[in-house]
Amino acid sequence: MRPKKNIVHLPVYKPGKPMEEVKRELGLTDVIKLASNENPFGCSPKAKEAIIAHVDQTSIYPDGGAVELTAAIAEHFNVETNQVIFGAGSDEIIMMLARAFFEPGDQTIMAETTFPQYKHNAEVEGAVCVEVPLKDGAHDLPAMLAAINGRTKIVWLCNPNNPTGTMHSHNEVAEFLQQVPPHVMVVLDEAYAEYNVSGEYPDSVGLVNQYKNVIILRTFSKIYGLATLRIGYGIGHPDVIRSINQVREPFNTTGFAQKAALAALQDKQFITDCREANAEGIRYLTGELDRLNVSYYPAHGNFIMVDVQRSGAAVFESLLRKGIIIRHDSGWKLPTMIRVTVGSQEQNEKFIGALEQVLDEVAVGV
Ligand SMILES: *Cc1c(COP(=O)(O)O)cnc(C)c1O
Repeated sequence: MRPKKNIVHLPVYKPGKPMEEVKRELGLTDVIKLASNENPFGCSPKAKEAIIAHVDQTSIYPDGGAVELTAAIAEHFNVETNQVIFGAGSDEIIMMLARAFFEPGDQTIMAETTFPQYKHNAEVEGAVCVEVPLKDGAHDLPAMLAAINGRTKIVWLCNPNNPTGTMHSHNEVAEFLQQVPPHVMVVLDEAYAEYNVSGEYPDSVGLVNQYKNVIILRTFSKIYGLATLRIGYGIGHPDVIRSINQVREPFNTTGFAQKAALAALQDKQFITDCREANAEGIRYLTGELDRLNVSYYPAHGNFIMVDVQRSGAAVFESLLRKGIIIRHDSGWKLPTMIRVTVGSQEQNEKFIGALEQVLDEVAVGV
């Protein structure tokens, strides 16, 4: 048996340690996880009710076309139903895009420090990845444009960028798209769009209507608090959506996910409340980080990337010992950075208290 050549080098995804294991290993009773950009307030109570109401339907296959949810999303964004596609998380849409568009030897462009699934799925399909270093924590859009060639199939823009949290405004993205040739698709991954309070966030649906080669990815895993149900969606030109549908598994999203997502979409108050609490959390955290004299990138999602001026790996370990799980990844190529998810006020205060101690314990430098 021999797997295909281009997957042999790929690492198997390492999930974060489960909280129960961290508690047991370190003898802690109280552990908080600010590592995966999950919603600290859970999901809308209406989504929970929808899940419970569906519990007698477990033996029935889900609606493979997600008809009701498609109609709701189309109405929400004022697009046609044939412009919408669902995936088992937007992760699956990234996979389906790669599967539908890449042939071995095609080229694709992404930031050097961004969501890892673009590169991962491109490599599975044998595409050649050009990773463009960030500039001040944000995509270097001119350098990404300059990397486009005749074999470029997809450019990935993560906005806000995970892990740095930086955002490109409507004008920046529009100016970028104006210069992208029509044979190149631009994926706007907007997993954190609903958190944005800047007033300058792209009108990406407007951009989809203007440019056939643009697709937006959104998810119910972040502000909607449905990460365990695995559901996300894409909005694009009907031809692009059709291509993705051609490689989609027939029942890729569950009935529970569809019902919960529909209810969650309708509970606008819950989303407004979460957005406001998150903005307040960012104000609190950045104020405290200023007091501790550490810098951070402008945060436009529900997480902050902090330059601890020390080994990010060492700070991660020290925080873990105090029962706080954050994130550091050597793959970021930013050795002094940690990423912390904005939690509840109580969690944020615990994080700051622990970080203050850790900055005393861990020596400056890497
Ligand atoms: C969390 C995240 C996703 C996908 O999440 P799903 O749970 O698969 O919907 C996609 N892109 C970015 C940038 C993310 O942070």
